[in-house]
Amino acid sequence: MKQEKIYLKDYKSPAFTVDSVNLDFNLNEDFCRVVAKSQVRRVHPGEMRLNGEELKLISIKINGQQLNADQYQITEEELIVPSVPDSFTLEIETELQPQNNTSLEGLYKSNGIFCTQCEAQGFRKITYFFDRPDVMTSYSVTIEADKAKYPVLLSNGDRIKIEDLGNGRHKAFWQDPHKKPCYLFALVAGDLGVIRDTFTTMNGRKVNLEVYAAHGKQERCWHAMDSLKKSMKWDEEVFGLEYDLNDYMIVAIDDFNAGAMENKGLNIFNSRLVLADSNSATDVDFHSIESVVAHEYFHNYTGNRVTLRDWFQLSLKEGLTVFRDQEFSADMTDRGVQRIEDVDALRAGQFAEDAGPNAHPVRPESCMAVDNFFTMTIYEKGSEVIRMMQTIVGRKGFRKGMDEYFKRHDGQAVTTEDFAAAISNPNNKDFTQFRRWYNQSGTPVVSVQENFDAAKGEFHVTLEQSCPPTPGQPTKEPFHIPLMMGLLDKSGKELSLSCDKITVNTDGKNLMELKEQKETFVFKGLKERPVLSVLREFSAPVNLRWEASENDLYFLMQNDTDSFNRREMAQKLGLRLFKKMIQQARAKETLKVDDRFITTMTAILADESMDPAFKAKMLQLPSYAVLAQEEAVLDAEAFYQARTTLRKAIAAANRAQLLNIYRKYHGVEPKSREPKVFGHRALKNQALAYLADLHDPEIMEIVNKQYWDAQNMTDRMTAMSILADSDSAHREKALQNFYEEWKNDSVVINKWFTAQATTTSRKQVLEDVKALTKHPAFNITNPNNVYSLLRAFGANLVRFNDPNTNAYEFYADKILEIDPKNPQVAARLCAAFNFVSKLEPAMKEKALTQIKRMVAVESLSKNSRELLQSALT
Ligand code: ZN
Repeated sequence: MKQEKIYLKDYKSPAFTVDSVNLDFNLNEDFCRVVAKSQVRRVHPGEMRLNGEELKLISIKINGQQLNADQYQITEEELIVPSVPDSFTLEIETELQPQNNTSLEGLYKSNGIFCTQCEAQGFRKITYFFDRPDVMTSYSVTIEADKAKYPVLLSNGDRIKIEDLGNGRHKAFWQDPHKKPCYLFALVAGDLGVIRDTFTTMNGRKVNLEVYAAHGKQERCWHAMDSLKKSMKWDEEVFGLEYDLNDYMIVAIDDFNAGAMENKGLNIFNSRLVLADSNSATDVDFHSIESVVAHEYFHNYTGNRVTLRDWFQLSLKEGLTVFRDQEFSADMTDRGVQRIEDVDALRAGQFAEDAGPNAHPVRPESCMAVDNFFTMTIYEKGSEVIRMMQTIVGRKGFRKGMDEYFKRHDGQAVTTEDFAAAISNPNNKDFTQFRRWYNQSGTPVVSVQENFDAAKGEFHVTLEQSCPPTPGQPTKEPFHIPLMMGLLDKSGKELSLSCDKITVNTDGKNLMELKEQKETFVFKGLKERPVLSVLREFSAPVNLRWEASENDLYFLMQNDTDSFNRREMAQKLGLRLFKKMIQQARAKETLKVDDRFITTMTAILADESMDPAFKAKMLQLPSYAVLAQEEAVLDAEAFYQARTTLRKAIAAANRAQLLNIYRKYHGVEPKSREPKVFGHRALKNQALAYLADLHDPEIMEIVNKQYWDAQNMTDRMTAMSILADSDSAHREKALQNFYEEWKNDSVVINKWFTAQATTTSRKQVLEDVKALTKHPAFNITNPNNVYSLLRAFGANLVRFNDPNTNAYEFYADKILEIDPKNPQVAARLCAAFNFVSKLEPAMKEKALTQIKRMVAVESLSKNSRELLQSALT
């Protein structure tokens, strides 16, 4: 295996283009033959190099003439033909073994279903081809297979016909009218159930919608279908984008490395992001399905019609499409709550990534494994970068820019610079400095200084930015940072601003656009000191260093007109308290809980006017993931002490109040899927979780009763997770029951794994996880099993880093076991070691020993190697 880096600066436009390709698949139980017939044209002089891996070449013909072995060369990664004409027909026949393909990229089999995953570079495992996104081609496809075993034969585009071949086999013909890069190719062949519906587009065209799943599971696809129709409508209304084929198909597959894939007209999904009904799926599952179905649908324009020039541009489509799905979710549910959830995820995951050994820019400049680009930085930070553009030019301006983007680039393979230009030009903005968000890694820090000059009636806000060094980037240039802000008077009223440096965007939002390293904004005409509210809506992905007084934070928490910041202040206060308590725990002192914080929580609980979903967010304490970033040392035990002590204190002080909330909402509309009811359930289940921290037998009876009486999966899972993390006598029976009930359901049984892998009170979780890897329900070749048990455990900061165990050794064993079969899945586990530099010396030593052991394995994939190696430097 080649272990070299590739660089953006080495990009060269393709030497050949392909006008059309015809792919002919002959599917069998023990082999698959593929004939690829392409019309090729030369653009630049030179030899022809085709990508191809793990292929058996049967024959290669140019203009019908078979090439002799001395006319081409085959390496581990390429097929090279030194001399070809300027324009010719290329015919290549290859043989594959999809039934033995454990990497789940290229053509593989899952539960007897043939399917493909070609992004990023899986197509080269199907045939020798120009496997790069800037080669866009017209596809026609035929699929021949056994008729009884594989009645459903699908590919991209339009269904032309299906022929019965008479010998028990049949053959389907597909034609995709849109040119596409090969990473968007897809094929499915299997015995599948299907549900059907239609969507009428804004121009009155009728689109056939189909969602496929394993036989018997199709009835669980209606929520996905519903989500698809909502997405299609939303994209027409918000961006004026209309679907461009007659059919839209989604197929649910049990073995899938990622979440889902936007193949043109034929999305392939991890079944956990399709299958749902209230018995089997939680409210969060319903929400994720809606957003991922939307995400893949939105890719039809942002990704498929306008695609990438090269993989370094991945965020061009992923950041933009995450932004679009976040906006969609905000419109479907509650904008404020959605923003809180998105920022929580960004902070817990992306900020950690950006502070760790594998930090990289939104548009990276080098890599070893392209598949390692599917990160939170490319996706979630990428989305924040797009959001900032929208914040700067306003919504109207952003829509104008998007229209311009499609006008300029429809049908092309482009770069992030092209996108930024399409947004900035029609809005007469200069994004030269802004583009540093694409090139510089690390989370910027913005410090805020306030000063009120009563004599002059002036309020001065001084902002200073910096960005910590990240791998390969010791120093940074200043970013262009839009900070949405406001000033409040003593009564909580929004003041009108008199400051010539403030920009008001077309949505009427006030922005401090910080461009220099340090800038002061002067607000005039103020009779008394105002209260500053800054970084409203989390308008930029930065860490604020702001030593606001506790009084101001409490004031904003109650009075800010920006709901994001009300909750943000609650987090800030929680964090300040945690910092003290962690110090006390580390010094083996008694942990002191702050009365004012508890009283405030009590007031929030009692506030009848507060929306329940928002209240649930207000009551949430900063997560372990956030603590790990804020603290210099990852001291798992101290974190645990601080967090449980504070939670217990809140529960003890509010026992009756929490029980009231629980009783008020429990059992009300248990089957409803209205966002409002989701909010009620989230709040009452959170109340229950707080109460359970009291370890009070009476409460555990309530939890147990909720488990057994549950009428939906949200309630059942909440109760099971609480029991799983307790020493309650009810624990075993509930876990046993859940297993018995769902053991044959691959999607649901993963919840059972996660509930056991994420316990924090239970000290023997490592032993539990070890035992579960040997459980009959656990299959190490199934990515969902691995993610829900092993990755969930790796993200369990408290127990994964418990100094009394050596979880690292066990984890390294598992990575080494998975890596040769499926490098992508193994690589996704490696992130558990991102915190190594924050561990105490003894723990660090243990972790480094394991990392070194893994890296020493010569056959380790480049995916895992790239991520682990950086933790050593
Ligand atoms: Zn995507």
